[in-house]
Amino acid sequence: MKFNEFVYERPDFETEKNHILQLIESFQTATSAQKQIDLIKEANEKRSAIQSMATISSIRNSIDTQDKFYEEENQFWDQHMPYLEELSAKLYQSILSSPYLNEIKPHFPETFFKIAEYSLKAFDPSIIEHLQKENALSTEYTKLLASAQIEFDGNTYTLTQLTPWIQNKDRSVRQRALEAKMGFFETHEETLDRIYSDLVSVRTEMAQKLGYKNFVELGYIRMMRFDYNEEMVANYRRQVLNDLVPVAQTLYEKQRVRIGLDSLKHYDLPFQFKDGNAKPYGTPEEIIEAGQKMYHELSEETKEFIDFMMEHELMDLVSKKGKAGGGYCTYIPSHKSPFIFSNFNGTSGDIDVLTHEAGHAFQVYSSSSIETIECQFPTMESAEIHSMSMEFFTWPWMESFFKEQAQKYRYSHLAGALKFIPYGVLVDHFQHIVYNNPDKDAQFRKEQWRILEKQYLPHIDYSDSSFLEKGTYWYQQGHIFQAPFYYIDYTLAQVIALQFFKRMQDQDPQAWKDYLHLCQLGGTKTFLQLVKEAKLKSPFEDGVLKSVMKTVENWLDSIDDLAL
Ligand code: ZN
Repeated sequence: MKFNEFVYERPDFETEKNHILQLIESFQTATSAQKQIDLIKEANEKRSAIQSMATISSIRNSIDTQDKFYEEENQFWDQHMPYLEELSAKLYQSILSSPYLNEIKPHFPETFFKIAEYSLKAFDPSIIEHLQKENALSTEYTKLLASAQIEFDGNTYTLTQLTPWIQNKDRSVRQRALEAKMGFFETHEETLDRIYSDLVSVRTEMAQKLGYKNFVELGYIRMMRFDYNEEMVANYRRQVLNDLVPVAQTLYEKQRVRIGLDSLKHYDLPFQFKDGNAKPYGTPEEIIEAGQKMYHELSEETKEFIDFMMEHELMDLVSKKGKAGGGYCTYIPSHKSPFIFSNFNGTSGDIDVLTHEAGHAFQVYSSSSIETIECQFPTMESAEIHSMSMEFFTWPWMESFFKEQAQKYRYSHLAGALKFIPYGVLVDHFQHIVYNNPDKDAQFRKEQWRILEKQYLPHIDYSDSSFLEKGTYWYQQGHIFQAPFYYIDYTLAQVIALQFFKRMQDQDPQAWKDYLHLCQLGGTKTFLQLVKEAKLKSPFEDGVLKSVMKTVENWLDSIDDLAL
């Protein structure tokens, strides 16, 4: 069955709810472990069916934000998902207090019980209204950004469609394109400040209602950080500041020399090579076909995977009007089907979708035998290992997209991986400040952002933009609005993915096998357990970051970047 044929039907929530409540009641009165195990499985199936409908609705809404039907369905889900969470919480509660808990445990992944425990810490029926408000604000942000119709040189563009102009060879074009883009955010500055202030308040209220000092602690629990804490993260950020920021600065200096400028302005940063950044050749169809061929050649497992995605039309990749921004991979449990969404715009980002999002999809496809919905994807920092490592496993095929520019692509991919880490850590640091100071206003937040930018990204020169100088760059960073504390995850995963990169450089024959093993484990283990399973090192360990960066530096130094 193709994605278009997947049946969507809004469930009768009352009926479903009563059914699950009955299952929970039977669970509580069950007199054997086996009976309870069967009931958990039945409840999981039910929840999985409901989740699948919500996911199908959300995918179709993102494909066309102007489709009234799915817009309404999405509002329905915004309203009702918190009730599903409430039901799950009831289920978790019963499981964790079962007299047969020790007998039940071996039948489900161990992370299921950790997730149950953390979910209970993050939920109480008294915060349902808050959760609904949080969802509505998050949807408002998505819609605002998707509504962007930016006039530029006689044409109208969405935010993503402007990207090629922002990377344009002509300095004045990229400057004006970026001004046009930031102009959109400036026009909506008050709205964005209001949305974010409301989000910070509602999250803080939720945290306090649940008995936490502020949202930081709750944020970590919601992100399911089972094996690391705020101090470990702070220590990691310090290592980034000390060991990585100076290396990144040398890369920006090389870039300045390479593109022949006296000084690097903020609008020069996306432009990395004198004759332009590496761009993929071919139409979207040709790119997708080359992607399919690549996965056929990479391994048996990826061949089976990509054929499944194509056959069932589980990818919507090309940018069009009304489509939500960004890219994502999600999973529809009832069809055991991953789905990839993106906005191709003719830049190398299109290839990243085929490697990155496909890496996520490959993981969830590889672990589709896991029935427990909570454990199909691992927690975020682990999930990004699959996607970011796939970006490196596919390196040998870059000629099929970039031809003679493949090395240029590899250089900017790897340099980009390194340069990204300080930014990712900055986003994290910023959110710690925001949620530790929930009473401070929008002005304070903007000032703090700018202060942090100067620490982590000292090369940034906003002298031509008073708007960005105010500390507003983060308006475009959706995670800050929609997924608090989810961002450092990308940097943690990058440090892991770069270890796979090193193993590939060393031609370690075990590297792919360990990667595959990691994918098959899905979310059945915690982050640090998964890292260990794949024979990799924790990014929190002192010195790991430094040694990984050495490999990257060595590769970059071995390339004559002026000749690219
Ligand atoms: Zn990802």
